[in-house]
Amino acid sequence: MGAASQRAGWNRLPLRAAAFVVLTCATILGVSAWREWAARDAVLRGAEAEMANVARSLTQHAEDSLDLLDSGVVGVVSRLEVDGAGPATVTKLDKVLEARKTAIARINSVAIIDDQGNWLTSPGTIGSTLTDDGFFRYHQLSAKREAHVGRPVKNQEDGQWVVTLSRRFNKPDGSFGGVVLATISANYLSHFYEQFEIGRNSAVALVHGDGMIIARNPSNDKFVGRNVADTPLFRDASLQRPGGAYHFRSPLDGAERVSFFKRSSRYPLVLLATVDKDELLAPWREAAISRMLYVVALVLMIAIIGAVLVRQLQRGQRMAAALTEKEAHFRLLAEGSSDMVTRIGLDERLRYVSPSSVRVVGWRANQLIGTPALAGINPEDLLQVQAIVDAMKRGEKEEARLVYRNAHQENGEVWLESTMRVTRKDNGRVDGVVAISRDITEHKKLETRLETLAIEDSLTGLANRRRFDERLKEEWARAYRDRSSLALLMIDVDHFKSYNDEYGHPAGDACLRLVAQIIAAETQRPGDLAARYGGEEFAMLLPNTDAAGCARIGDRIRRAIREAGLVHTTNHATGYVTASLGGAACRPVLERTAGVVSLVEAADRALYTAKEAGRNRLMMSGEVASLMAKASGQ
Ligand code: GH3
Ligand code: MG
Ligand code: MG
Repeated sequence: MGAASQRAGWNRLPLRAAAFVVLTCATILGVSAWREWAARDAVLRGAEAEMANVARSLTQHAEDSLDLLDSGVVGVVSRLEVDGAGPATVTKLDKVLEARKTAIARINSVAIIDDQGNWLTSPGTIGSTLTDDGFFRYHQLSAKREAHVGRPVKNQEDGQWVVTLSRRFNKPDGSFGGVVLATISANYLSHFYEQFEIGRNSAVALVHGDGMIIARNPSNDKFVGRNVADTPLFRDASLQRPGGAYHFRSPLDGAERVSFFKRSSRYPLVLLATVDKDELLAPWREAAISRMLYVVALVLMIAIIGAVLVRQLQRGQRMAAALTEKEAHFRLLAEGSSDMVTRIGLDERLRYVSPSSVRVVGWRANQLIGTPALAGINPEDLLQVQAIVDAMKRGEKEEARLVYRNAHQENGEVWLESTMRVTRKDNGRVDGVVAISRDITEHKKLETRLETLAIEDSLTGLANRRRFDERLKEEWARAYRDRSSLALLMIDVDHFKSYNDEYGHPAGDACLRLVAQIIAAETQRPGDLAARYGGEEFAMLLPNTDAAGCARIGDRIRRAIREAGLVHTTNHATGYVTASLGGAACRPVLERTAGVVSLVEAADRALYTAKEAGRNRLMMSGEVASLMAKASGQ
């Protein structure tokens, strides 16, 4: 469970790292964008505050101007009501007003109009040339005595726009006596506004309460007299308050503007100070773009480095997973195998031993790891194994298959067959040997058994005829080399046919086994070989033995068979089992023409002679020759 969850955690690691990188980038971008937005907001707020100050002071200026006008108008009204609107009074007043007008630049003109609408003052500057006489009709109909600020009107005479401030004066009986009118020029206001330099694309406009523009800077001529009554400033309920910030898209050029409006509390006037948003924000935008470029470059760098790291993490993880899988496969193979897998280092110590070592050599893997790898090998096989391992360590041999005896913890010794292979490091240098070993003891036993079967006579356990022929050839060659003598005895049981007839075949077999035992007992030297030559005929090969030695052994065998005392009634001479023997000895090096066959023939001939001579006796080949010489001599 632990390993599984750990692996799952590992798998999620690159994902987490990627998420971290993305989060970092997003945070940096987010914080930077927020900061820029805040800076932009500060610029806008600053502009609003500036526009508010402009709007407030210009509204004040407009009010002051109208107040100034009104104070003059009030004076004229009270004089007319006291002195009446006679020509003498008017002329006098005309002079006063003219003087006042020149003293105060703001005052465009002052005029008196009688109840019939006739201009009583000098028509030089202003008179019936105004395009609109709304103010007159207003006073005619309204008994109100307060100052009235009318809509801007155009003086047809000089084409100038003016704002009118007028008051009604009454006749002594209280009826409508006429109107005193003062005007202020739009040009004057617009020139005044020029002093406020608030940016190339900024503008200040004074608008009458009914929506007509009174004065504007810049481009006064273009805008004055225009009606903006249908703009939000006049229509939106939310904007019908004394003053405030106001963002809008200009209906004239489509540019976005930041503005502040201020409504006069005493006169139907609205002052609007605006600045072009694009222009206002241009310095900020430039700085923000360069700052954001740096930030984006930084984020891009982080993202690229992050991506590379995540890639590496992924690759490392894939490699680790592959390694784990490879190791799992190796363990599955090494530990699932019934063969013992070992890894031997260059110091010939065991680095790894698979668990099947218990089955193969009886020791557990942890008992073997770190111990010398060749320690358990039988000393007789060690040299051969050591030589091969040395050759592999030197890189002269890649693979080897070895069969040797190795110690087993319980069973003493087992035969092992090992397939060895050199292992190399990445740079190609040998760093050890891997050996796969299996127990072939059973196999070896079988092999030995088969070998024995091939050379042994099954009835008597003596060497068989094949083995005898082989050894005869070998010993002949050896004797030839050593210039030594080689002797051969042929032994044949007497009247064995009748023994079989008398006692049966199984008894005959038992008899043959006994005779074989007696013969085998006489093989005293390691080179001696007792063999069953065929039927009830045996042979004894005696290397390094001369005729005398051969005769001695032959006679011992003959006597031992007789003395075994095996009853054989039809063997009339003795009543016991006896055998006849023929012996021959020679020095192969002296027998120029003769070979192995001549030795066998000589012994055979001697045996035949022994039979002829009455059985139960030994005849040597040399005696045969002298006998024959005697016989021919007689
Ligand atoms: P001699 O004294 O002349 O040697 O007489 P013999 O009867 O021994 O002569 P022969 O060689 O003619 O007879 C050999 C007999 O040995 C024939 C055969 O029945 C018997 N014989 C051969 N091999 C075996 C055997 O493996 N077991 C048994 N029981 N009898 C065998
Ligand atoms: Mg025979
Ligand atoms: Mg016989």
